[in-house]
Amino acid sequence: QQATPEGDTIFGKIVRKEIPCEFLYEDEQCVAFNDISPQAPKHILVIPRKPISQLSKAEDSDEQLLGHLLLVARRVAKEQGLEKGFRLVVNDGKDGAQSVYHLHIHILGGRQMQWPPG
Ligand code: 5GP
Repeated sequence: QQATPEGDTIFGKIVRKEIPCEFLYEDEQCVAFNDISPQAPKHILVIPRKPISQLSKAEDSDEQLLGHLLLVARRVAKEQGLEKGFRLVVNDGKDGAQSVYHLHIHILGGRQMQWPPG
């Protein structure tokens, strides 16, 4: 894991297939794969191929890509059988508890979620 918002990350290596990782979904803009340390029965990450470090560093020109990530998250959640509901999370920066500085959407599901989070 990478703790600073600079340089390449483990997710960059995953999208470039430099380290093995089974994709649950992939297209020309993004990939989805299981989180290595699941926090729910289903815990999937959707990440853009473009190495945007974090949501707060995304640009207006990323609007289409950001919308696409949400629609892929919806699709993957459905394919994974999360009809009863799911949670999407984007951690941003230090206070957001971001640990990998390559933008990703967490899909969490398969159990009852609580609100508010800690
Ligand atoms: P963040 O805290 O940055 O929002 O979340 C990073 C997530 O990436 C964590 O849930 C962590 O378990 C996951 N992760 C870190 N390294 C790897 C890896 O090499 N492979 C996979 N599949 N997930 C990873």
